[in-house]
Amino acid sequence: MKKKIIKVKNLSKKYLGDSKYALDHIELSINQGSIFGLLGPNGAGKSTFINILAGLVNKDNGDVKVCGIDLDNDPKTVRGNLGVVPQEIMIDPFFTPMEIMNIQAGMYAVNKENIRNLEILETLGLRDKANAYARSLSGGMKRRLMVAKAMVHNPQILILDEPTAGVDVELRSNLWRSIKKLNKAGTTIILTTHYLKEAELLCDEIAVINKGNVIANDSKINLLKRL
Ligand code: ADP
Repeated sequence: MKKKIIKVKNLSKKYLGDSKYALDHIELSINQGSIFGLLGPNGAGKSTFINILAGLVNKDNGDVKVCGIDLDNDPKTVRGNLGVVPQEIMIDPFFTPMEIMNIQAGMYAVNKENIRNLEILETLGLRDKANAYARSLSGGMKRRLMVAKAMVHNPQILILDEPTAGVDVELRSNLWRSIKKLNKAGTTIILTTHYLKEAELLCDEIAVINKGNVIANDSKINLLKRL
């Protein structure tokens, strides 16, 4: 049996003023080393799940364990184990990728001997842009820089919220390649998507979520057999 890197039990969230649960007492587990796709239509609860893990949204109820650590007991260590790539590109155009990475390393207080910024930029196909102004990067490069930034503190888990929303086909395959490389190097990947095709091509485990309920959580092979 594979080791579970994330375990969620009875997790619920209802936003203030909403009559329905954004997450309705869900159970979910994610294997270490997998590329895990959280698949569901808009409004299903995907971002809510990710934002709870990232500490951006408070849950109402339930247990969340990340790398064996309880989110309620030690949210700081949980955050250190996660790298989160938000949907929107947020990059200061007047800094270079290397400067952006160094600032991020400072914010996470990464020890000098653990800083691997050039190596990360290389993995993301951005090494030759390390010292270029961020404003000169293409849209696809900026998105990969967001991934590089999320990897600065060497998290065990990388979370991407709709990584390819609005990204054209060629840039998408570049990004997928980078994600696969990071996974090969040992990072567990979690991504949300509303494209079945994306989950099918990229992920080895998939959970399907709808109206705040997890309606399937299985390996891609088993899930496709059932479908
Ligand atoms: P997804 O990421 O799958 O599109 P979300 O997690 O964003 O879904 O949304 C799940 C439900 O929670 C939706 O009904 C949405 O309207 C509601 N919701 C999300 N964020 C908020 C918020 N900040 N305040 C109130 N309701 C919200």
